[in-house]
Amino acid sequence: MKTYQEPFFHEKESKVTNIEEKYGFLLVELDDTIFYPAGGGQPCDTGIIKNNYFEGKVVDVSKKNSKIVHKLKIIDGTLKINDRVICQHSIKRRLSLVRMHSGEHVFMGALLKTIKDIKVDKVRLDEDESSLFVICRDLTWEKIFEAEKLANKIIKENKDIIVKDVTKEEAAKIPELRIKLDRIKDEKIRIVEVKDYDIAACAGTHALKTGFIGNILITKFNIVRGVYEIRFKTNVSEELFELARIARLSSSIIKKDVKEVPDFIKKLMTDNELKTNKIRELSSKLVQDVNEEKINDINFISNIFQDVERKQLVDHAASLVKEKTIVCFINKIGEDSQLLIMASEDSSIKANELLKEVMKKFNGRGGGRNNFAMGSLKTDFSEKALETLKELVKTTISNSS
Ligand SMILES: [Zn+2]
Repeated sequence: MKTYQEPFFHEKESKVTNIEEKYGFLLVELDDTIFYPAGGGQPCDTGIIKNNYFEGKVVDVSKKNSKIVHKLKIIDGTLKINDRVICQHSIKRRLSLVRMHSGEHVFMGALLKTIKDIKVDKVRLDEDESSLFVICRDLTWEKIFEAEKLANKIIKENKDIIVKDVTKEEAAKIPELRIKLDRIKDEKIRIVEVKDYDIAACAGTHALKTGFIGNILITKFNIVRGVYEIRFKTNVSEELFELARIARLSSSIIKKDVKEVPDFIKKLMTDNELKTNKIRELSSKLVQDVNEEKINDINFISNIFQDVERKQLVDHAASLVKEKTIVCFINKIGEDSQLLIMASEDSSIKANELLKEVMKKFNGRGGGRNNFAMGSLKTDFSEKALETLKELVKTTISNSS
């Protein structure tokens, strides 16, 4: 095991073997390092490198070919090649990443045992919340709960986590080994086994026993381009109380037992959908009622409605636009009203310009194109705005003819 893979090795004396200065940072190489370089989904360690004459903050550690480069922000002093330095981890971050990484192995093991067709795509670990990206047919909260329960059981059982090196040939003989053999260039492969439970090829830092993880909580999941991202935290207690607080508060609002909250919300959603459909039906009847008059050879169609769905308003207006037509609808919704203007191409009226003029007068906002414009103004101005619109149409038409 490399020094930087030792999970609980937080301080070490090392020798500086190379230094480069770049953009105000020092790029330092050491004869041996405790700092894990970012890789395999695990971010780098951070911390301090110092001696009697120098102190630098480790802000990034990366591995290029076999070289590990520490990016240091100088706090004080100077550093030379061959200097001996004390390296110290940011211990909280390191321990959190050890928990996250071990937790990820245990949870992935649980997913494999509970969902048949699941495959890991990638892992992105972080100090506070990590992500596991998986591919499977249909992930649901129920399936996640089942895997989460199993993972927490394995954590509680405090199973050994065993790390060892094997050859490629030996690795090929372990049927349950999770490995992407084509991605591995080295002849030697490091494998991490949660005893009698899960075995995977991995270069990261892991706990010695599953109990160290504390617990695992799946916080959310979503799908992007066919890949599920499952977010999780480990060793949580405050979050659990916070979730319990929300659950109890929700149950008190709806005056039901906590266990009844999900079914009750589902029922509310269904009822709400039914009601929305009913309102849609009613408002589609409401918009049928319009006033039609002639301004010269133009059909001027208008009305003021209340609480009509925007889509219905637009659809109905569009259905009324024939040759030489202007449609002006106002839709009152609480304190604000929507104003819609549609104009046929041959009407010599530009909807967006007309809207602009009305909005200027009534301090409203909106925009659109020549044939269609929409804006919003205060409901108190609705009647006045429609009158003004009609006047403007009259003036524009008589000027153009
Ligand atoms: Zn690992």
